[in-house]
Amino acid sequence: MSHLAALTKLLGPDASLISDPDITASYSRDQAPFAVSAPPFAVLLARRAEEISIALKYANKEKISVVTRGAGSGLSGGANATADSLVISLEKMSQIIEIDAANQIARVQAGVINIDLDNAAKELGLAYLPDPASRDWSSLGGNAATNAGGMCCVKYGVTSAHVRAMQVVLASGEIIELGKATKKSVTTYDFLHLFIGSEGTLGIITELTLNLVTRPAPPATLIATFPTIKSAAAAATALLQYRPSMLEIVDQTTLRAVEAWHPLGFEVAGAVLLMQLDENHSLCEVALETCKSFDLIDGVYSDDPNDAADLIRVRKMAYPALERMGATLLDDVALPITKIAEFVEKVEALSKRANLAIGIFGHAGDGNMHPTIVHDHGDAAATERAQKTFNEIVEIAQSLGGSASGEHGIGSIKAQFVANETSAKVIELQRAVKKVFDPNSILNPGKKIP
Ligand SMILES: Cc1cc2nc3c(=O)[nH]c(=O)nc-3n(C[C@H](O)[C@H](O)[C@H](O)COP(=O)(O)OP(=O)(O)OC[C@H]3O[C@@H](n4cnc5c(N)ncnc54)[C@H](O)[C@@H]3O)c2cc1C
Repeated sequence: MSHLAALTKLLGPDASLISDPDITASYSRDQAPFAVSAPPFAVLLARRAEEISIALKYANKEKISVVTRGAGSGLSGGANATADSLVISLEKMSQIIEIDAANQIARVQAGVINIDLDNAAKELGLAYLPDPASRDWSSLGGNAATNAGGMCCVKYGVTSAHVRAMQVVLASGEIIELGKATKKSVTTYDFLHLFIGSEGTLGIITELTLNLVTRPAPPATLIATFPTIKSAAAAATALLQYRPSMLEIVDQTTLRAVEAWHPLGFEVAGAVLLMQLDENHSLCEVALETCKSFDLIDGVYSDDPNDAADLIRVRKMAYPALERMGATLLDDVALPITKIAEFVEKVEALSKRANLAIGIFGHAGDGNMHPTIVHDHGDAAATERAQKTFNEIVEIAQSLGGSASGEHGIGSIKAQFVANETSAKVIELQRAVKKVFDPNSILNPGKKIP
């Protein structure tokens, strides 16, 4: 019997097990432009943990590769299928099971879209804070599996700071619970956080218990222009003292791209910093004074929420503006914040050497930079140069004490960089951990660890 026939029999007639190649092809990859992929032999649109358990039990026995998929918005090829693999998609598991306002927690199925939880929490005066730019379409399970970050994470921490508990289906098909719904618990080894950022390689997250918080007040927003990226980056380190709920940086290449699309008047600046304060708005004035010690050209702030949308437009438009210039490769290295300026200088030199435009923007307060390489669509030589440049950017970050990925994950495009920042012993331990949870290496094989 074929694997498809066997799974159909085991899962029963109600299961959504798709084998139509026109449909399975659309589940073969995420948003990473150059990661390898192949259509899976089938896609299970799971509705219950028990269905996933049945599928994994069979896959484990037959040693079939299983690729877990949230919303497929990833940028590292993490959800990319391989030939003869089974994709298990969580998109149908999109129920907010419970919001417990008194305990400030939500229990959700892993396929719930991030913004849907925040919108539901909003009605109760609460918020789910982690805000990846993809929050309108990425799943909470995917966010946990990649430990997603976002703009407010400079103050509130990335996804890992907001997960209390989870349900996981192991490669063996067993269903386990990790963590506790309580705010504090140190009873066991912290397997919960081992699974956060595990990119579908240790188990399939089916349910999450997440922190909600009292909704922060609308922030005051400040925008400041600087003559050089060096001065802006130096100012960013000084601005951390005001506990910003957002601290973003945009370089001149990106400002020019935005200007060419929607003129906002920033093209003269060498770089722009955007800051939000959701508590003490009056500190904006003090922050501008601080910026003056770093060659501030100009700065304005407002605590009117409508102005905020205008002021942060330059950051929101950064990536789409670069995308208008050609095909893009978006990186997401993380650096010590004091190394941002040096990093940008080195990437600018690389941009000239490679003859490729590279716009740099990112979460200055977290040191998480998104250098975005632009090259001509359909130009094979430029594409090859862009991929080489992408790798060189990671190496530059690592040479400055940085990390290959701040939020998008290692997936299938960055495994070769892990050893540059991880000792052989630690890699050996990671492989041993993988073996404990997934002895036959059926879950996303070849991803995350080298
Ligand atoms: C325009 C754009 C902007 C983005 N902005 C940000 C940003 O600001 N911050 C950020 O962190 N990321 C960002 N991303 C990347 C992406 O949205 C995140 O990595 C997101 O967390 C992925 O969620 P997903 O549901 O789409 O997961 P997928 O892409 O489907 O999967 C991502 C990884 O998680 C695994 N996985 C998914 N669901 C589960 C599960 N239930 N159990 C176990 N493993 C699972 C997959 O196997 C894969 O390895 C952006 C992407 C785009 C396209």
